[in-house]
Parts: sequence; C-alpha cells; structure tokens
Amino acid sequence: MRPFKALERRLGWKLFLSYLIVVMVGTVVLASTAKFEAPVALSRHMAHMETMMGDNAGLAADLRDSFVAAVNEVLVVAALAAALAAVIVSIFTTRRIVGPIQAMMQASQRIAAGDYHQRVQILSEDELGALVSSFNRMAETLEQTERRRVELIGDLAHEFRTPLSSIRSIMEGLVDGVLPADPATFLDIQREISRLQRLVNDLLELSRAEAGQISLEIQPAAVSNLIHTAADRLQPQFDDKGVDLDVAVSQDLPLVRVDPGRLAQVLLNLLGNALQYTPSGGRVTIRAWHEGHAIAIAVQDTGIGIPAEALPHIFERFYRVDKSRARTGGGSGIGLTIARHLVEAQGGRIWAESPGPGQGSILTFTLPLAS
Ligand code: ADP
Repeated sequence: MRPFKALERRLGWKLFLSYLIVVMVGTVVLASTAKFEAPVALSRHMAHMETMMGDNAGLAADLRDSFVAAVNEVLVVAALAAALAAVIVSIFTTRRIVGPIQAMMQASQRIAAGDYHQRVQILSEDELGALVSSFNRMAETLEQTERRRVELIGDLAHEFRTPLSSIRSIMEGLVDGVLPADPATFLDIQREISRLQRLVNDLLELSRAEAGQISLEIQPAAVSNLIHTAADRLQPQFDDKGVDLDVAVSQDLPLVRVDPGRLAQVLLNLLGNALQYTPSGGRVTIRAWHEGHAIAIAVQDTGIGIPAEALPHIFERFYRVDKSRARTGGGSGIGLTIARHLVEAQGGRIWAESPGPGQGSILTFTLPLAS
C-alpha cells in the first residue's frame, strides 16, 4: 500500500509513470502489429520471392522464423531504449516543473512561519514562471502588510504614551504638592484626556474606514450650502487665530451625490488642517467648480506648505511631515487618511499640491454629480 501512497504524493513519480505508460502502450501496439500483421505481409513477400526463387518450403519456414525472431529482438531493444528515454525525459521535466513548485512550497512554509523575505527565483517565462512571479508579488504584499502592522503598533504605543505620561506627571505633581490643585492644573489633565479620547475616536473611525465599513447615506446635495455650514462652524477659530477664511463658491453649481454628514467631516478636516498649518495673518480660501462629471472642491492656504517628497505620503495613516510640530498641535496623522477613505467611498478622489515649504498648500477633492 505504501509505495502507492508515495506515488500519489509525488508529482515527479506521476510524470515518470505517465511516460512509462506511453512507452508500454507503444510497445504493446508495436508487438501486436508485429505478431498479427507482419506474418501476413511476410507471406505475401515470400510468395512473390517463391515465384522468382522456385519452390523451397524449408527455406521459406526458416526465413519466416528468423524474421519473427529479429522483429522481437528489435522490439525488446526499442522498448528498453524508450523506457530509458522516459527516465531521462521525466528527470528533466521533473527538474523544470517540480523544482519551482517545491521551491514555492518551501518558501510558503517559511512565510507562514513568519519569514516574509522569502522569494522564489524565476527560471522560465512560461505559465510556471508567471505562477512564480505572482507568488513573489503575493509575498511582497504580505511583507509590506506585516511591516505596516508592526509600524502601526509602534505608532499607536507612541501616540498613547505622550498624553498618558503628561497625565501621570501632572498627577505626581499634585500628589507631591509641587502643582497647585487649581482649575488650571485640572484643565491640563482634561486637555490630555480629550486628546486621548480624540485619538481613540479617530482610530475607531480609521479601522471602520479601512475595513470598508463606513455607512453612507448618499443623497443629492448642494455643495455650496455644505461648504458654508462647515466654514461658519470654524469661523470663530479662524477669528481667534487671526486667519482669514474666504469662501469663493458659486450658488448655482449642480447637485452632487454625497452623504452630507461625511462631506462635512472631510471639509472640517481640511479646513482644520489649513487653519492649524497657517500662521496668523494668513488666508484660507475654499473654491468649488464644475469639472466633467464631478464637482471639485479645493481648500487653499497661505501656510507652511508641504515639501514635495511628503506630498505622496500625507494620506497614509500616522504620516506627519514634522512629527514634533504635529504632536504639539495635537495631530496624529489620521485625519487625512480618514478623509481619503470618505472621499473615495463617495466616488471621488483627493490629492494635495504645494509649491513648497512656506508657500502654502492646496488640498483638492472631487465628488460625482447627482445627475
Ligand atoms: P494631522 O492630524 O497630523 O494633521 P492629517 O492626516 O490631517 O494629520 O495630516 C497629515 C500631515 O499632513 C500633517 O501632519 C501635516 O504634516 C500635513 N498637512 C496636512 N494638511 C496640511 C496643510 N494644509 N499644510 C501643511 N501641512 C499639512
């Protein structure tokens, strides 16, 4: 039973067996042809020869026997040569086919065990080569996902540690009597707790967005109203900081297909960022215009700008151009990631432009028309 089990599990053996079967079938066909057809053909030729050589029954029988023996001998040699050819060909094909499959098998076992650097060498350009190449691409994606997961855990720990250690040192100061138990101290604690709460809410929102679980209530809406509502909400903060907020949006733009609550969330995020990264005396302008089958909305500021090398990354989670600067301002690098998910879930796209540091930024996104 065991040899058959081994045979079932080895592709190389199966290939060899298939060649051997072809050789055996060929030999049987040849042998049967030689047994049944050859004597008939030989008799025909012998009859022809007898007419030329005269009647010699003994010689004819000898010739017939020798011919059959010669044919059998040739068949045995041919079958042995074919079996040898089957062995050689199956060794070659096994190397070409089974080799890469075994390499992929070993690599996938190592990947499953946590070694994500594994790749398989591409040796051919056929379907097997294509399979190895897509295996390598899959390994690459897994490696990136794993790297991001590890980074994510590190980033999260870092984000939580800062407010927690602030709260802890304030509490120690209170216990030791170094800090007065007055409203200012409690406000400091409250600020750090709010920061933690904001972070937890953002994380919940981010995980929902990344899992594609954002519930949307899509409906036709007028962007100008939504933009004015968001701008009015943040106007007091702009006034406090001394940054001008300018809404340059026409009332007669076509309706868009959006979830008004989610659109407000995106607008508040972009306006909040523009305010945060624009020094007092600066200006933030919102524009909206009709472009093909979409409405484009741009939030432009005269703030600190974004370096060219950071532009492709600012929509990645936890990405901050200047970590120390963002941390003092309370940013955790999640806002734009959520904004990108929200815009894309509503059928639009979002991008950032900046002429360079100190020269302001423009964040633009599109929304599909309702019609
Ligand atoms: P954060 O909460 O840190 O602002 P975001 O995801 O909203 O997180 O933004 C990611 C990073 O992109 C910010 O940390 C900041 O460095 C940069 N950024 C976003 N908007 C602007 C802007 N208007 N001007 C300059 N930099 C910006």
